[in-house]
Amino acid sequence: MNKKVRVRFAPSPTGGLHLGGVRTVLYNYLFAKQHNGDFILRIEDTDQTRYVEGAEEYIYQCLDWCGLIPDESPQKPGAFGPYRQSERKSIYRKYAEQLVKQGKAYYAFDMPEELETMRTNYKTAENPSPQYDHKVRMKMRNSLSLTLEETERLLEASTPHVIRILMPENETVQFHDMIRGEVSFQTSQVDDKVLLKADGMPTYHLAVVVDDYLMQITHAFRGEEWLSSSPVHVLLWKYLFGIENMPQWAHLPLILKPDGNGKLSKRDGDRLGFPVFAMNWVDPKTNELTKGFRELGFLPEAFINMLALLGWNDGSEQEIFSLQELISKFSMDRVHKGGAKFNFEKAKWFNHEWIKQSAVSSYQSAVKELFDENNIVINDENKFLKVLELVKDRCTFLTDFVQQSSFFFQTPGAIDIAAIQPKWNEKKNLFFVELIRAYELMNLWQHDDLEKEFKEIAAVNEIKPGDVLLPLRIMLVGGKFGPGVFDIVALLGKEETIKRIKHTLQLLQ
Ligand code: GLU
Repeated sequence: MNKKVRVRFAPSPTGGLHLGGVRTVLYNYLFAKQHNGDFILRIEDTDQTRYVEGAEEYIYQCLDWCGLIPDESPQKPGAFGPYRQSERKSIYRKYAEQLVKQGKAYYAFDMPEELETMRTNYKTAENPSPQYDHKVRMKMRNSLSLTLEETERLLEASTPHVIRILMPENETVQFHDMIRGEVSFQTSQVDDKVLLKADGMPTYHLAVVVDDYLMQITHAFRGEEWLSSSPVHVLLWKYLFGIENMPQWAHLPLILKPDGNGKLSKRDGDRLGFPVFAMNWVDPKTNELTKGFRELGFLPEAFINMLALLGWNDGSEQEIFSLQELISKFSMDRVHKGGAKFNFEKAKWFNHEWIKQSAVSSYQSAVKELFDENNIVINDENKFLKVLELVKDRCTFLTDFVQQSSFFFQTPGAIDIAAIQPKWNEKKNLFFVELIRAYELMNLWQHDDLEKEFKEIAAVNEIKPGDVLLPLRIMLVGGKFGPGVFDIVALLGKEETIKRIKHTLQLLQ
């Protein structure tokens, strides 16, 4: 019987969530759901020096916003808890000790100064940053270079120590990556990584392998930046749990800068003026704000859709995919090996498409919040929905709704008189006076009737409708923007329309 698919997203809570991280979540999630499997969130917080207050909470909020809800997490524990590595501290030592007994790892007692000396002494032009590896290990203070008695004495005296993996000297470590195919590494290139730290905490390398095993993870999808650590993980699997039990791996391609090579960084976003994080992130130490896609006015559906296509396509021309469609169509073998260049214009396109094609009721409350933030009161939800429908084609971001439609709910702050004045004359003034009179008499306030009346009065006054349309628009909205003029008139209602025309006529006096 095939094992139930179980995948995990295993972030370290060190700051805001980069869009590459969200894409890792997404691919994990899609794969899990497609296979009726479980998607697990595990918090990898063993490096206490990098722990950042609020970062874990932020991860939950991001996943929530994106609608990528884990089946098991610290907040929703399943049968494999705890889901925070710091709470699993007592689990790991035994595996590290087992490795020592197997002769696959060793105790190392070197103090920071001794490591520093090693780095200085072995530094050469070809090897500018020497590692703790087969070349130097016998010259350091560890259970390989010391006698058994000496090692025991040090351990009994509770001398601070770490446990390091003993990297074989000349082996090829190989594994199958679902995106890259066969991948192999020479072990002589890899250092003797620390597995258990002096404070008893495991390092990422040990914890990731132990936890993937104990949590019965079947597939591990993570960023390409972890590929170079994979030989250590393969060996740990071989030594501890059997290579046949190792999850299938896929190392996801990097998301690259739009202009040039290399991984897209927070700094590129600042430099080029777009967000790189999913949501706003405020660094608790510096109070520095890094902007997010959510606050910029992205719909989660668009954000997800855009991310899915950064490195994957279904082989057709289709670009708009709902989450459900992605679940059914996603496949790891269509994920590209090469990095995907981030394109902000394309991201905007996705958002615009999603704003247009979604039912406005699906983002009504998000837009309402934006209106609230701008102190614009909405007291007619029905009118609000109509307004959203009317202007949605003009909005790239949810925040655009405020600019595009606030005039429906409050008098425009300023009227662009300068855009009317140069061509203003008595004839036009008379036209508007008559328009007010006619509109005041109208019983049914409907788009077509309003337009017809407008045109008739223009004809009687021998004015081209085109010459008075723009002034009317400016009177109603304040400037040269907005949806169809008679849509605006119809929605504003009689009283407000007439009031605004009168007000501008006075300004033009
Ligand atoms: N804790 C690692 C990170 O922060 C997880 C890498 C993995 O998924 O193995 O990205």
